[in-house]
Amino acid sequence: MTGFAAQSGPIQRLVIVGGGTAGWMAAIYLNRIMRAFNRQVILVESPTLGTIGVGEATIPPLVHFFRGLKLDEKELMRKCSATYKLGIKFVDWAEPGKAYWHPFGHCGARIDNLDLFHFWLRRRIEAGSKLEYEDYSTQVRLGEAGKAPWPYGGASLIQETASYAYHLDASALADYLRDIATREGVQHLFGDVRDVALDQKGDIESVDIGGDRIISGDFFIDATGFSGRLIEQKLADPWIDWSRHMLCDRAVVMPLPRGEDFPPYTYSTAREAGWTWQIPLNSRTGFGYVHSSAHISTEAATETLIAQAGLRKARAADPRVLPFRVGRRTSFWRRNCVSIGLASGFVEPLESTGIHLIQFAIMLLSEYFPDRSENAALRRVYNSRMGEIYDAARDFIILHYYLSRREEPFWRASREVTLPDSLTELLELYDETSRIDSARLLLFPASSYYFILAGNGRVPRRTIVEAEQSPTSKLWHVLDRIRADGGVIADRMPAHKDYMAELHRTSI
Ligand SMILES: Cc1cc2nc3c(=O)[nH]c(=O)nc-3n(C[C@H](O)[C@H](O)[C@H](O)COP(=O)(O)OP(=O)(O)OC[C@H]3O[C@@H](n4cnc5c(N)ncnc54)[C@H](O)[C@@H]3O)c2cc1C
Repeated sequence: MTGFAAQSGPIQRLVIVGGGTAGWMAAIYLNRIMRAFNRQVILVESPTLGTIGVGEATIPPLVHFFRGLKLDEKELMRKCSATYKLGIKFVDWAEPGKAYWHPFGHCGARIDNLDLFHFWLRRRIEAGSKLEYEDYSTQVRLGEAGKAPWPYGGASLIQETASYAYHLDASALADYLRDIATREGVQHLFGDVRDVALDQKGDIESVDIGGDRIISGDFFIDATGFSGRLIEQKLADPWIDWSRHMLCDRAVVMPLPRGEDFPPYTYSTAREAGWTWQIPLNSRTGFGYVHSSAHISTEAATETLIAQAGLRKARAADPRVLPFRVGRRTSFWRRNCVSIGLASGFVEPLESTGIHLIQFAIMLLSEYFPDRSENAALRRVYNSRMGEIYDAARDFIILHYYLSRREEPFWRASREVTLPDSLTELLELYDETSRIDSARLLLFPASSYYFILAGNGRVPRRTIVEAEQSPTSKLWHVLDRIRADGGVIADRMPAHKDYMAELHRTSI
């Protein structure tokens, strides 16, 4: 397969290197575009290196991604041992003994087309209300009651607005997408990239995958995980390191047998030098400790995990240590190569943004789809948009650590990190006016920021003027009704556990 050196016209052959979640999400999506014009997508994956094998929690835009691909949600959930996720419960984060939520979707309902936050704040300031912002969230009510987001065979606003996500087995998702993508014509090859050949301009011409196989293409996607085999090792794109902003650099991962309990949310529990996650899948419980190696040893982190799991269960498990680096590419798209997934950057998994950043990259690439020319303008916009969303993810994660009042050395050090200017500005605007700059809402809506900020007790000085118009008696009544409605919905829904048993047994 050599001799693909044309300089203009549409891309005839796209080569994706890497068969993890990033590679297969890109393959299925981009092949749907390419195959309409009889163009070829080839995916090469190493037969020996394997995938990262974690990535269990997701955020709501993935629902749209799957719907856009016309995948059958129930089938996908069964294949990927998936359960519903309505948000994250942060236990002991603000301080030991306290919990706060980051649920998905609007909090309750918008009032006068404004986030309920502003009216919650007004009631707190003017009437001394002790209710928390999250008390108005339907997802929190459902989560606390262990309920499914809609009734058997029925629908709900949460479903219609896709204000939910999944816990799923990301390796199974890659397999599921691979089966569909190869049926739809993606060519799948096994081989380790041993060498990468550049043409005179410095574009990638081909990859050598051994056994006399040279795979040439017009455009390449580097989905090789942390190794960045093309973008970093060959094209030498510099990595922007974020370790001065975020201290965690390692995870111990220990899947446990399937639990009895099926909370429709992720547990994130703050620990001495990081945090543990607990994610209910139908096949197992995902379990891991993200931590700072400067503040706790691997052995001690593993022991913490084992203690939390209970010894009997831990014997059945197999702890795995995953070092990671936080940061992102300087140029996500360099020459004729776009990096996607872990090859393009990594923000620690606290808010389950990894798979979403893959989705965002793929959709942005399809919007700014290259041809065989220089693509300089497309590349510039793509790189700038990707940089913005990665930076927004970084700032959102740092916020969780920065607001915590925990006193262990790790947590004190987390408050003393260098804050990115963008986050300092976000906090200043919020403190002063209770607004979140709309330019920052690339990843999560304003309500997500409000949940984290208010959940940590950081409350702005005043409400926005638009929220001061309605008479208070009417407003308090509206707020009470929204809260009561959330309770009624939660009462009516089936238990998530029963719903999952039904879903994984039969179609609903
Ligand atoms: C501890 C941890 C927890 C996480 N939790 C979440 C989460 O809850 N939610 C979430 O959205 N994300 C999470 N992530 C991120 C998520 O795992 C990744 O974004 C996702 O799995 C995509 O990985 P990938 O496909 O980029 O890389 P990988 O899964 O590492 O796949 C890389 C692929 O490239 C291939 N490859 C590598 N080198 C070569 C070569 N030289 N030649 C040929 N092939 C090669 C490998 O064989 C493999 O197929 C987590 C990450 C970590 C580290």
